[in-house]
Amino acid sequence: MGLETPSSSLVVPTVGTMAPVRALGDSDTALVEATRTGDPDAFLELWTRHVEAVARLARRLVADESAVSSVVNDAFAVVMIDIAQDRYAHDRVGLEPFRLSVYKAVADLLGHPRPGGRSSVPVLRALHRLPPRMQSVVWYVDVEEMGWGEVERLVGEGPAEVRTAYRLAHTTLRAEWVMDLLEDETVPDACVWNLRRTGSRAAGWLSWSAARRYDRHLRGCTWCQELAEALRSPASVLAHEAHLVFDVALRPEDRQSPPRSRTSSQETSAPASAGVPSVERA
Ligand SMILES: [Zn+2]
Repeated sequence: MGLETPSSSLVVPTVGTMAPVRALGDSDTALVEATRTGDPDAFLELWTRHVEAVARLARRLVADESAVSSVVNDAFAVVMIDIAQDRYAHDRVGLEPFRLSVYKAVADLLGHPRPGGRSSVPVLRALHRLPPRMQSVVWYVDVEEMGWGEVERLVGEGPAEVRTAYRLAHTTLRAEWVMDLLEDETVPDACVWNLRRTGSRAAGWLSWSAARRYDRHLRGCTWCQELAEALRSPASVLAHEAHLVFDVALRPEDRQSPPRSRTSSQETSAPASAGVPSVERA
């Protein structure tokens, strides 16, 4: 794919470099840690695992193939410096899917909006509130549509552990999403009142009068209706929003229609900054 010498003076791997064979148990997290302690082979392995996907993303964001090569190499260099200087976990990224951190570096280099701590999309903020391992599993399975075997390799765990983390990640993602909205001061009090009682209403724990109040608000509030719908499938909303931002891992049949811009998708529902995405209804 013709990646060239990095424009940085750092020794960043390029295509044609042979990666050493590493033990299968090496997760991305272990490789990041090994990089931090000065093992150059560890970063080479990370590069080998993720460079194709990062180059695919860069190709969607820049037209010129020669620019793709330098952006990809620069992005890996930026992440490597962050890791080496021990800023990886604090600054650019959390301890999140390694690939996402390089995507973000690409987006930063190109001045493209990116998800993360400053994201205006609640479900993406919720993703960042999950434990790192869950973030990786849900990102790789739902957004990148990666096979289980590959996810297991990147996370460094067996099939049972990864599937358990995946199921738990959805429950946690939903809970963190709600938490995020409860902390959002732009969400009207009446909607917050309902949001706090969503679980209780579903479980039938509300008193008769509280249930009546809940239902009355829900009937009259489009925002709460859309949120309830979205919360039923947090994974598909996450994938949808991540695709709007990064255009990653789209299936061939989805490529016909270009994704809407994030801003236009967010302006349809009130309160605007609460950002309940318009999800495709089944
Ligand atoms: Zn409402």
